[in-house]
Amino acid sequence: MKDIDNLRDRYRRRLLNLHAVTITFVAVLEIVAYFIFCYLGVEKLSASSSYLWRFVALPIFLNLCAHLFARRIDSSLAYNHDLKNNVIIYAVLLTAIVIAVFHRYYIVTATAFTFPIVLCAMFNSKDLLKKVFAISLVVLIIITIMDGAFKLRQLTLSINLLVVYGVNIISYLSSLLAINFSQSNFKLIAEQAEENEQLQDKLQRDPMTGLLNHETFYEELGEAFDDYHNNSIEFTVAVLDIDDFKNINDTYGHEAGDIVLKTLARILKKHCDFNDKVCRYGGEEFAVVFDGNTEEEAVAVMEAVLGQFSSWNFKFADVSITFSCGIVQYDGITQRDELFSRADKLLYEAKQSGKNKICVG
Ligand code: GH3
Ligand code: MG
Ligand code: MG
Repeated sequence: MKDIDNLRDRYRRRLLNLHAVTITFVAVLEIVAYFIFCYLGVEKLSASSSYLWRFVALPIFLNLCAHLFARRIDSSLAYNHDLKNNVIIYAVLLTAIVIAVFHRYYIVTATAFTFPIVLCAMFNSKDLLKKVFAISLVVLIIITIMDGAFKLRQLTLSINLLVVYGVNIISYLSSLLAINFSQSNFKLIAEQAEENEQLQDKLQRDPMTGLLNHETFYEELGEAFDDYHNNSIEFTVAVLDIDDFKNINDTYGHEAGDIVLKTLARILKKHCDFNDKVCRYGGEEFAVVFDGNTEEEAVAVMEAVLGQFSSWNFKFADVSITFSCGIVQYDGITQRDELFSRADKLLYEAKQSGKNKICVG
């Protein structure tokens, strides 16, 4: 999400820079045109101070105001991305309106509306595009009525009007096409990403219990090691093994054994935190990486799990099933494999000393 925000910020700044270049170019053009008209003495315009005001000062002032306003909004933390996008597009639209209205004598300058129309595609917003196109069209119609319609008998002007309307409508349709394409494309990419995530999740889990599998347990153990050394987050490992599980299978059948495994998985998930990594390490062996927990906290959780599991009311038989468990808190020195074998040794001790118990290292 942060990456997307950074990307938007970067591209909005680029757009603002492009707008700055555009209004500078327009200003230079106006000034150069003024001096050329002065030099040529065109229609006494050079002598008129209203020319300077109308075609040089006022457009530069309006464009500058729009630009500074858009920059101000863009740099503020108080506004969201959509509002900032809209303000910049409207600033570009204002520049297009200034160009088209002040130069309606040269009606082709109204093709300037193509800039804000096309730029809407950048922000992928149909709503913004429709509004910008509607405003452009209204201004265009007003210009036509004010300066064009009564001169329609002039062939060149009629052709120019056709070109202006045609170019603006086509740029609107092109922008709409680009936005539709981008939106469909994004949808496909999002679906693909979700599918990949689901697949990745499936690969990390044991299909029967839904717990993390053996490989993922080692990955999570590695991450817990890194977290300890980089961010001083402590962790504790618990390894557990169901007692006399072979007897359950032999007495009540393999299906009953599966029910026992699923039940223990459910109880473990219920008692462990969201951050803890609960794994099915092997057949009837489970392991938990307690993220941010001390040995005492892990023991309390495992005692609660053992209590609920051993008193579970299984439908297939009235039987109390237990497990043995070894728990070790990471001391900052022990190697990863060594830590697991220390927990495994404690589990072995629990088995040797009568099962149905938790041994702590
Ligand atoms: P201990 O108390 O010493 O742990 O004895 P145990 O009988 O639990 O241990 P043992 O290693 O002798 O037996 C484990 C059994 O777990 C053997 C195997 O058939 C069974 N098992 C392994 N995976 C599954 C499974 O997915 N489903 C079922 N139902 N049984 C399984
Ligand atoms: Mg075993
Ligand atoms: Mg066992």
